[in-house]
Amino acid sequence: MTRSRWIVLAVIATLIGAFFALDLDRYLTLESFQQSRAAIESYRAAHPWLAAGAFFLTYVAATGLSLPGAAILTLAAGAIFGLLWGVVIVSFASSLGATLAFLTSRFLLHDAIQARYGDRLRAINAGVKRDGALYLFTLRLIPAFPFFMVNLVMGLTPIRTATFYGVSQIGMLPLTIVFVNAGTQLAKLTSLKDILSPGLLGALVLIGVFPLIARKFADFVNARKVYARFSRPKQFDRNLIVIGGGSAGLVTAYIAAAVKAKVTLIEKAEMGGDCLNTGCVPSKAILRSAKLLDHVRRAREFGLRAAAAEFDFSEVMQRVQRVIKTIEPHDSVERYTELGVECLKGHAKIVDPWTVEVNGKKLTAQSIVIAAGGEPFVPPIKGLKEAGFLTSETVWSIREQPKRLIVLGGGPIGSELTQAFARLGSQVTQVEMLPRILPREDEEVARMVMERFKTEGIDVRVGTKAKEVRFVDNEKRLVCEKDGKEEEIPFDQILVAVGRVARLKGYGLEEVGVETGRTVKVNAYLQTNFPNIYACGDVAGPYQFTHTAAHMAWYCAVNALFGRFKKFKVDYSVIPWATFTEPEVARVGLNELEAKEKNIPYELTTYPIDDLDRAIADEEAHGVVKVLTVPGKDKILGVTIAGEHAGDLIAEYILAMRHGLGLNKILGTIHIYPTLAEANKFAAGVWKKAHAPQGLLRIVERLHTWMRG
Ligand SMILES: Cc1cc2nc3c(=O)[nH]c(=O)nc-3n(C[C@H](O)[C@H](O)[C@H](O)COP(=O)(O)OP(=O)(O)OC[C@H]3O[C@@H](n4cnc5c(N)ncnc54)[C@H](O)[C@@H]3O)c2cc1C
Repeated sequence: MTRSRWIVLAVIATLIGAFFALDLDRYLTLESFQQSRAAIESYRAAHPWLAAGAFFLTYVAATGLSLPGAAILTLAAGAIFGLLWGVVIVSFASSLGATLAFLTSRFLLHDAIQARYGDRLRAINAGVKRDGALYLFTLRLIPAFPFFMVNLVMGLTPIRTATFYGVSQIGMLPLTIVFVNAGTQLAKLTSLKDILSPGLLGALVLIGVFPLIARKFADFVNARKVYARFSRPKQFDRNLIVIGGGSAGLVTAYIAAAVKAKVTLIEKAEMGGDCLNTGCVPSKAILRSAKLLDHVRRAREFGLRAAAAEFDFSEVMQRVQRVIKTIEPHDSVERYTELGVECLKGHAKIVDPWTVEVNGKKLTAQSIVIAAGGEPFVPPIKGLKEAGFLTSETVWSIREQPKRLIVLGGGPIGSELTQAFARLGSQVTQVEMLPRILPREDEEVARMVMERFKTEGIDVRVGTKAKEVRFVDNEKRLVCEKDGKEEEIPFDQILVAVGRVARLKGYGLEEVGVETGRTVKVNAYLQTNFPNIYACGDVAGPYQFTHTAAHMAWYCAVNALFGRFKKFKVDYSVIPWATFTEPEVARVGLNELEAKEKNIPYELTTYPIDDLDRAIADEEAHGVVKVLTVPGKDKILGVTIAGEHAGDLIAEYILAMRHGLGLNKILGTIHIYPTLAEANKFAAGVWKKAHAPQGLLRIVERLHTWMRG
């Protein structure tokens, strides 16, 4: 906490402490006021303005410091100043005092709370930004929520101060009138309970919840509005239609069939989508062949005098296709038909919110799930089209090895393919606009990968912007800009891997009016602006992985089929991923970069894998485990692992984060010796050592000395 915060806290604590120490609360009871009422009233008659001013300030101070007794003061206002002036004075004094308390809470705690729990508060913050005034109005009208608590809690949210003041003044008015009016009859009052009859309380609650109900109703009407120009079929042929047979669509259809829904899956190209045909599977298959070649080259490190590998590039690419063919049955029409999914091949087009057209036939369903995936983004670089280029979609069909290959892009896809082609013998130049490759990953780890690339002979050019492709003397050259200077890189083939975009055109989204931005826009239930049309996977983002597509698919299937009874918000709290370069880079939760960006306090624990027995035995003694924890606690905020099988090792941390297990639990778990997984435990050990209770250890040391006699 900053010095100014400590000072404010000390002043407030002193004032509150003095209030109780001087026993001032004894004046804030009904009896006490009744006793001194005649004297106060005669003072007011003699000095009306002074009395009003003093009362106003007392009221502001009491509410501003969250002291008890606001109800008695409000009654007193009625008794001393009458209904009209009593209401005017209390209404402004209570709103001002409440705003002071609100601002104090915001000044002292808002930043710390948001920094620490910002991730989890994101949804609440968004809700408060959108509907904060309504919530506050409801809270103000219902006496069950103590006013001082409302002031303090609202200070922690992002609600605007002016909104807080205005809504408080209006929302507190009804109760102020009730209490001030009761104060005018003070002589007859024996207890505060006499003021609020059950009928009056009920009426206030109704006024309080009315805006919320009205808001829900307005949402409902708005949601229905999008359907206005369509006529809903009376009956549906199916419960669910899924567009796209990639990871997202397959899992959606699988879950729907498992719960006995009638579901149709439409795929225009190959079942399995990107992951099986042009993404995860072929990229991992080519990386494996490339790794074997790298091991052959490193033969001496393993104690072998010499080793050589003879290979033909086209045979490696055929193996890639063989791997795809072997996995294909997992995603096949036959398998899914057997599971109870109707699989159709053809281009699906949404024609209205319940109807999809395929092969000239119109199918209807209660709900539609869009799982149309994404495609490579090709930047508008002059001359690129004319020169011809490869993408992650087309690269798998080449059979001739590019001699000089440029890989445009330093993200995960570009980096994996860079290393694979370099190891297979292409002379690869990787071009990245940003200052480093793998820009979303930990800086130290990204540097490790870059260094490894360089030692393997890859020309990594970061901070380099591709501008144009030119033909010079029948040779293709990429013209780039680095530090304001032009560079030319000659090449035979160029692979564009600068990112992927959602597939949004050509299947009815625009015509029907499904809202899109960079992706199909969805809410937390994965509903589009048409509540019965859902979207998941790459087409909806924000992540572009097979496992996140499958994760989202569960929510789409369940919400689409059972949403009228219960809907689930998609949970992105623990999302892991890996980049399968060497060293492999895996990550879950926060890394340092993100923690700093989001202003989240963290403690960093590092375990270098070059010291791990198994890694040494395997000649893979490189890499690192980096764990971010809540300062002073073993609660894990995020982990990055670089090294052999990092993507497998991180599973333990994913489990721990998902189920709230801390580093102490990982340390207390037996890990098999000698395995790479021991790195996880050793990282937890490094953390434990840093948190050893030094005072206790000194006492134990003395105990040992004493026991030795
Ligand atoms: C080179 C590369 C490597 C990757 N490696 C990994 C990895 O290691 N791990 C990982 O998790 N992720 C990886 N990914 C990402 C992963 O492949 C995607 O996140 C995943 O495939 C997304 O699945 P999806 O179902 O959303 O989309 P897709 O797999 O693209 O499926 C969409 C399907 O919809 C079909 N379709 C589209 N429009 C229509 C229509 N109108 N009618 C009928 N059918 C339609 C398409 O033909 C396609 O088959 C990689 C991607 C690439 C390109």
